[in-house]
Amino acid sequence: MFGKSRPDVVVIGAGPVGLFSALSLAHRGLSVMIVDKDWRRAAHSYALGLHVKSLWLLRSLGLFEEIEKNGRKISKVEIYDPSEKRAEIHIKDIDADMPFLITMEQAKLEEILESALNDRGIKVLWNHEVSHLEEKDDGVELVIDRLEKISLGYAIAHTEWVVAKSEKVKVPLVIGADGHRSFVRRSLQIPFEMVGQTQHFAVFEFKCRQSRDYDMRLDLTPDTMNVLWPLPNQFCRWSFEVKDELHDEDSRQKERQAVSLSQSPFPILSMERFHQLLKERASWFTAQPEQITWRIVVRFEKRLADRFGKGRVWLAGDAIHMTGPAGIQSMNIGFREAFMLAELAEAVIKKGASLNRFEEYHEQFIKEWRMINNLDARVKRGTNQDPWIAENQERILPSLPASGNELIKMLNILGFEVQG
Ligand SMILES: Cc1cc2nc3c(=O)[nH]c(=O)nc-3n(C[C@H](O)[C@H](O)[C@H](O)COP(=O)(O)OP(=O)(O)OC[C@H]3O[C@@H](n4cnc5c(N)ncnc54)[C@H](O)[C@@H]3O)c2cc1C
Repeated sequence: MFGKSRPDVVVIGAGPVGLFSALSLAHRGLSVMIVDKDWRRAAHSYALGLHVKSLWLLRSLGLFEEIEKNGRKISKVEIYDPSEKRAEIHIKDIDADMPFLITMEQAKLEEILESALNDRGIKVLWNHEVSHLEEKDDGVELVIDRLEKISLGYAIAHTEWVVAKSEKVKVPLVIGADGHRSFVRRSLQIPFEMVGQTQHFAVFEFKCRQSRDYDMRLDLTPDTMNVLWPLPNQFCRWSFEVKDELHDEDSRQKERQAVSLSQSPFPILSMERFHQLLKERASWFTAQPEQITWRIVVRFEKRLADRFGKGRVWLAGDAIHMTGPAGIQSMNIGFREAFMLAELAEAVIKKGASLNRFEEYHEQFIKEWRMINNLDARVKRGTNQDPWIAENQERILPSLPASGNELIKMLNILGFEVQG
């Protein structure tokens, strides 16, 4: 599995954050191994937007041109109440040198990231699951199982994944980017508590003839949130918040098949209900939807880990935070986390810095996530602010497609003051 040399860092999980993490580490000259228990990348659009900051980070890794070629530029964010526009944020006012966001399917983004890793001679070890993790004084011991699909059954044949081989390795550092059910987080016994209300969204993705250039739009009714994200090639995604719907506990499991094998059990996903939702919640949307290419009801919890890692094992992405779908914050902030972890890994492994430097990482990002979840009341109403915007602070804050300084700029444009 490892050849002759041991890697400096093992990245667990090859979702967008793990792939980005491995690339950032390789970019700094560290040797990296990346493993994923699944058999391939995700198949759908999921987290479909790249923030300004992510575009800069991808540019620093030499990937901007590829992203630009495959994505759709979005130049503004609009916020509406049921009858009128309450605010708009032009991305050029957030960053004049990167005056847009870019949308693309998460599946395409993962493909670009994996292919960039391949170009650097790093192959993702798909079908490799980390089943044991233990921190020692001089490294982290991992057990990695290679999974294989075998045919079983006599009367009724079926296939199952089984462990074909297990190997034990010890490495200096581990990055857990293993998603919301993170094995790494659970091994470290880090609590992952709810920090806000769970929401369910009916998501429809479809191609449509578009007579105008849509931007990102957040429509808030008194009890629902509805989000439009335009995608490349005349595709759009509508996410409608739905109440009292049946939900599937596994809806947050990523599918690996491009064509969904199961029929949806949700009546809300029927074509009739889609047209009804459009009529009720987005009558202004005049583009004519053609064939729907993806539809799903997804449960979005809001959770935050108590700590973002310990000692030689650090976490990034959904493994430490979950939030709503509108602002695509979990994946994008995950990229910034991965980038900082790579910077610190380089300092520790190549320059002999103390492992305590990783505390900087924990402190910076936990503070940011606490702000997004309004846990420290750092975001305050501004004087002369539109009262409707102020009243909807808790829904708007986690729905803006930005983080860090860019998020603060967006909040300032909306009239909020951010303390500390
Ligand atoms: C149906 C659906 C719709 C979504 N819609 C949106 C949206 O509209 N907006 C939005 O912002 N986000 C959305 N998301 C969430 C978004 O996809 C995640 O935020 C993003 O994928 C997080 O990336 P990640 O790399 O942190 O984790 P993941 O993408 O979850 O990747 C984690 C990887 O770790 C692997 N892994 C887990 N355990 C192990 C182990 N023990 N050993 C080896 N590998 C392991 C998994 O196989 C997985 O590939 C959606 C997700 C789903 C499923």
